[in-house]
Amino acid sequence: MTTATTTDVLRFVRDYAEVIAEQRQVLTRLDADIGDGDHGENMNRGFKAAVEKLPGEDATPAAVLKAVATTLISKVGGASGPLYGTAFLRAATALGDATELDADLVVDALAAALEGLKMRGKAEAGDKTMLDAWTPAVDAARQAAADGADLPEVLGAAESAARAGMEATIPLVARKGRASYLGERSAGHPDPGATSSHLLFAALRCPVSPLQREGMTHG
Ligand code: ADP
Ligand code: MG
Repeated sequence: MTTATTTDVLRFVRDYAEVIAEQRQVLTRLDADIGDGDHGENMNRGFKAAVEKLPGEDATPAAVLKAVATTLISKVGGASGPLYGTAFLRAATALGDATELDADLVVDALAAALEGLKMRGKAEAGDKTMLDAWTPAVDAARQAAADGADLPEVLGAAESAARAGMEATIPLVARKGRASYLGERSAGHPDPGATSSHLLFAALRCPVSPLQREGMTHG
């Protein structure tokens, strides 16, 4: 049985920050289409700062996630900062003082993060937000774990479902966030937050080599 430790959680945060830095113009362009064109910069500012504030290997996985949450909430002005911040905070709480994270515990943390997103944003799947990536991802992860899959397969299932969920936002009309001001004109574009959320599940899935990163390009 595979478990994740603080080392893996630190690796995930650093990888995600790197992917966000690489993809920030793509995310910003997506947000320019249906929002105000700052999603890539918001995320990059937040995760760059989060990497600088990471605790060491002796911290618990929860302490790492909590440090990220605090930084995102204080550094990111846009809607996405408090949303991702809440998700990381709820995940941290779900982990408690665990040092070895098995598939079930990781699913619990992801489900708690999703609950936090829903509570904070008052949105649901189908509203064309990051929830359209998170909701199917958590469902797929939960199903895989219930079927007895090991952690890598659980995270693989989550990433595939997040990608499909992100792609499924394209035809949707936004009902939450800035994109909702566009009404019908928001259809025909992927949601930026669903796109950055897919990248989060991609970074969770595996150590990101430059080759794997090619498959993580959007836009
Ligand atoms: P802002 O909209 O303040 O400029 P960002 O551009 O950083 O913030 O983030 C926009 C993303 O935030 C959207 O693409 C969407 O996925 C997400 N979002 C906005 N409002 C909500 C909400 N109420 N619930 C969930 N996600 C939301
Ligand atoms: Mg924006």
